Amino acid sequence: NEAQVRDLVESKLAVIPDFPEPGVVFRDLTPVFADGAAFIALSEALTRPFAGRFDHLAGLEARGFLLAGAASALSGAGVLPVRKGGKLPRAVLREEYDLEYGTAAFEVHEDELPPGSRVLIIDDVLATGGTVEAAAALIERAGWRVAGVSVAIELLELGGRARLGDHVEIHSVLQY
Ligand code: AMP
Repeated sequence: NEAQVRDLVESKLAVIPDFPEPGVVFRDLTPVFADGAAFIALSEALTRPFAGRFDHLAGLEARGFLLAGAASALSGAGVLPVRKGGKLPRAVLREEYDLEYGTAAFEVHEDELPPGSRVLIIDDVLATGGTVEAAAALIERAGWRVAGVSVAIELLELGGRARLGDHVEIHSVLQY
């Protein structure tokens, strides 16, 4: 059940104070990825609340790729890779977003999915929400629909949920 999944994932999660800079508490999922049972349980937990309500999974580069890939194998839905700028070879849509220092960009192939596809956004951590917001903007600009946002970890104090607004359904497995 859900509580067991949370306990299993939390038991593997690494918490690193002051990385990558002083004051940040980094939540590192790599030990969860390294444990087959925990990785599979987490990946299943990401899609379960949205069962029957999505056609594709958007994996956000790079940690979101791992989770979306595993969730794809478990759910049967294909993956839309949301890539960092400059990596995709065909015509793209591009969305810039702010990082703590500087900016970054996400891109998707503009014709990757059929029009109206329901896309569930998958990532490791929801912090300020800027990263997910950029991915959601791309999906909408491409003529697809955001089925929801599902993340392993939500950092409540950083306000990502409020930034994304009421019209997006957000699910997180663990909250801090
Ligand atoms: P944001 O755009 O602020 O929601 O940041 C989300 C992105 O930054 C995610 O893709 C995470 O990988 C990463 N991130 C932000 N804060 C943390 C944290 N405390 N621990 C681990 N990853 C984080």
